[in-house]
Amino acid sequence: MASIELIDLTKHYKQGSTVVRALDGVNLSIESGEFVSIVGRSGSGKTTALDLLGLLLRPTNGQVMLDGTDTGKLRDGARADLRGKKLGFVFQEFNLLPGLTAIQNVMLPLRYHKNGKDGKARAATLLDEVGLKDRMHHRPDQMSGGEQQRTAIARALINRPSLVLGDEPTGEVDSETSQQIVALMRRMNRDHGVTFVIVTHDMDVAGQTDRVIRLKDGKVLSDARVDAEQTYLAKLDRKESVA
Ligand code: ADP
Ligand code: MG
Repeated sequence: MASIELIDLTKHYKQGSTVVRALDGVNLSIESGEFVSIVGRSGSGKTTALDLLGLLLRPTNGQVMLDGTDTGKLRDGARADLRGKKLGFVFQEFNLLPGLTAIQNVMLPLRYHKNGKDGKARAATLLDEVGLKDRMHHRPDQMSGGEQQRTAIARALINRPSLVLGDEPTGEVDSETSQQIVALMRRMNRDHGVTFVIVTHDMDVAGQTDRVIRLKDGKVLSDARVDAEQTYLAKLDRKESVA
């Protein structure tokens, strides 16, 4: 069974007398270990889809199955537990606590949930893996945007999640840093066997993922595997044509 199954997933918001169909009958399976991007115009339902996947919202209709668990059947407490144990989050604006150092930020989720012992050593190892061995005791205001996002990626992995969700994780950094961040997420996806689902506007970022799901008006417009070789060749072509 796929690690994620979305079945007829629907979220409607009431706005006075009208209904906004933010998500409208989405069916998707995502296998364990995939690196998937969700793209689409503003208002197409990307954040709603991600928040439903992250158990931050409950659907109007349909199901979110995570590793075989029908999450809609769980009470709020059990959903929060599952979120802490299985999910990691990366945000557009990093969401680090300003008064804490990088390593303290990475260890923060351990206050609520702990998968395994020796959190501090694991936090240090993760910071090393994301290239921040020399920044462990820096506070967010002493780091660049890219470094802050690397810290947030280490934080997302501290509890050995099976799924990391990112809503525009490269939305606040320049395009070169974007490429580094997505390459880092790709490496973590492979090295840790963690499924990644990210929302992005940036087709260069989406092109680095395995699969691009395009939403329009709350529906899946297309769902395509990215052929890594083709993307690479297309890039070379583009470079050559400007050279
Ligand atoms: P995206 O992330 O692709 O920009 P969203 O999922 O945020 O799209 O929004 C999808 C649609 O649902 C939009 O029309 C948006 O205005 C509407 N929407 C999102 N959240 C709410 C809410 N809490 N109440 C009412 N409408 C909402
Ligand atoms: Mg959004």
